[in-house]
Amino acid sequence: MKLLAATNNKGKIKELGEILSGLGITVLTPQEAGLSLEVEETGSTFEENAVLKARAWSEASGMPSLADDSGLCVDSLGGRPGVLSARFAGEGASDGENIELLLKSLKGVAGRSARFVCVAALALPAGEVITAEGRYEGVIIDTPLGTGGFGYDPVFFDPLAGKTLAQMGPEEKNARSHRRQALDGLREKLQASGYLDGDAGCRK
Ligand code: IMP
Repeated sequence: MKLLAATNNKGKIKELGEILSGLGITVLTPQEAGLSLEVEETGSTFEENAVLKARAWSEASGMPSLADDSGLCVDSLGGRPGVLSARFAGEGASDGENIELLLKSLKGVAGRSARFVCVAALALPAGEVITAEGRYEGVIIDTPLGTGGFGYDPVFFDPLAGKTLAQMGPEEKNARSHRRQALDGLREKLQASGYLDGDAGCRK
């Protein structure tokens, strides 16, 4: 089965390929498919945005297309930054600027519980879309720790691991991440529905 990675993000494409390996799934990049597309994330939920991206790429390519949408939800901020995580401090904001605003918003706030959420969506050319959600629970700390990962990783502390995501290597993070859990859920749904036995693009 061939899937198009419905993203231009090289890091995500690599992670998708790694997680789906060993299942007879070949992940094609937009470049390999000769496609270029910018999809505006206008949805108000992770699921809406993931479905929007997967559908747009599937319609443009005629191939099963896999997208994800993710972000950080902090309980004491009413779930913010949520779907606005990448642009919390404004359009084009750097990871450092987003973290700075997050810590400013939490100054003097005792409740630090938070989670990363990821929704993976696979759009099939016949129009069906399969989705799965993954969550990663943690707490936000005041002082960034570690140099790995990206985004909010240096301030997202995993109490079970005893470190921030930026203090983990890629394998350790990928084994437990919200993205990993969403993709595992999607894989289970695909296996249960028999899609992985044949050509998902043509069977329905
Ligand atoms: P998107 O899924 O590319 O839209 O990502 C949204 C934003 O959420 C990213 O730019 C990061 O700010 C944040 N984010 C999502 N996943 C992670 C993660 O694993 N670590 C740190 N930040 C993340």
